[in-house]
Amino acid sequence: MLEIQNLSVSYRGSIALQNINCCFAQGEMVGILGPNGAGKSTLIKAMLGLLQSLGQILWQGRPLKRQLARVAYVPQRSQIDWDYPITVWNVAMMGRTIETGLFQRPSRESEELVKAALERVGMYDLRNCPIGELSGGQQQRVFLARALAKQADLFLFDEPFVGVDRRTEQIMFDIFHELKEQKKTLIIVNHDLQETLHHYDRLVLLNRRLIAWGDRATVMTNENIARAYGVPLNLLAA
Ligand code: ADP
Ligand code: MG
Repeated sequence: MLEIQNLSVSYRGSIALQNINCCFAQGEMVGILGPNGAGKSTLIKAMLGLLQSLGQILWQGRPLKRQLARVAYVPQRSQIDWDYPITVWNVAMMGRTIETGLFQRPSRESEELVKAALERVGMYDLRNCPIGELSGGQQQRVFLARALAKQADLFLFDEPFVGVDRRTEQIMFDIFHELKEQKKTLIIVNHDLQETLHHYDRLVLLNRRLIAWGDRATVMTNENIARAYGVPLNLLAA
């Protein structure tokens, strides 16, 4: 169980998240929604202990930031340096850093996990390719492979569908559902308010404050959408 209790985050005096309270069960796929600047990425980074925050984030009753070995994180595209000279294989192997140690030779097990993860996302054949030479969808699949190789229990994805093709989106949702069947918990920041929302067990609608959380019918009311985005859903879609 993941519990977010009275979470507040400020950047140099300006409030990005104010008193967020919500919780999720193990094995759920949770979608985080809200307009640009709503604090979605801030929520994910606070979960990872990357930001100073008030309140608590607990995973199975203990602070999540002390259990990061069990958490896999895929940052927002815009936060990754795509010019960094690293191959597909080595990006995926970063998922094994905690097991392997920074300068050690990876174990046979790590190599097998990385191979399986790259095969699962359809990127093993391109394993020697520099990450910067791939399409957006391929790059995102490599980062998904890194997360899979880590064998985490909790997965945090920040806007994983931005800049990816349909096929990649399909592969990603297939994998998310497989992870769910393995009782993994997934928290996914999603920009798309329409087509893909049926995949999620729970939604969180943010705009600095928590507008609503729960199942789709509870969250996606016109009133909540208007409070989060300033306009009702039918106008957003137009
Ligand atoms: P979202 O991911 O929902 O688009 P963010 O969590 O990135 O929103 O940002 C929430 C708010 O915090 C925005 O107003 C943004 O400008 C601000 N913010 C984010 N990161 C920083 C930072 N490092 N320093 C100062 N302000 C920031
Ligand atoms: Mg963001």
